[in-house]
Amino acid sequence: MQLIENTYTFWAILITANILMYVCTILISHTWSKIHEFKTLPLTKQDMYNSIIVLVINILVAIPGYLLFSNGYILFRTDTHLIRDFVLLFFFFDFAMYVLHLASHHVWPFKKFHVKHHTHTYFNSISLYVMEPIESLLFGLLLTIFVVLFSVNFYSFLAFIFINWILGVIGHLNTKSINQPQFFGNHIFHKTHHQHPNHNYGFYTIIWDKIFGTIFKNKHI
Ligand SMILES: [Zn+2]
Ligand SMILES: [Zn+2]
Repeated sequence: MQLIENTYTFWAILITANILMYVCTILISHTWSKIHEFKTLPLTKQDMYNSIIVLVINILVAIPGYLLFSNGYILFRTDTHLIRDFVLLFFFFDFAMYVLHLASHHVWPFKKFHVKHHTHTYFNSISLYVMEPIESLLFGLLLTIFVVLFSVNFYSFLAFIFINWILGVIGHLNTKSINQPQFFGNHIFHKTHHQHPNHNYGFYTIIWDKIFGTIFKNKHI
């Protein structure tokens, strides 16, 4: 916790963590497709530029958060219940992302922003980072607003950031399977969304799609 109170250490950790996550995304996705001999979407120069811009935005979006933290508007706790705060973050964002994603398919201007991510109907190793930069900006700002409003446990917050990333990586792994998951979202669930954009809007879990009737049923194939 003291580590992030020093400006230089904070930015050094944040930038390193973001670059590491980007590199690991490429390594994990590439290795996965190689092992399973999946055909991957060709990697274009445009995808590469786009993914680097999104990586930079993911870092820069922490600026307002850091300023709010430095001025006492964001208070991280270390004495609250770690699992409770993680569950709160997980389900709040699972629902918020479902709603935002639904809006991204039906409401202007979100609809316009989301087109780029859907140019991939199957994946290359950076599909997770191929999106309109404003989409990653919106996610970062939503996260900032959440931690201003709720003083969550610092370690729950870190765990949530990690889980959000790893579930994003898993969601963009190629697959030939059509067996939809029962509770947590995965690569089959999210690839189905890329191919059938009116279904499977959820990210971490499939519960909101089940509740609101947007779940994909294999009989549609
Ligand atoms: Zn996607
Ligand atoms: Zn979508």
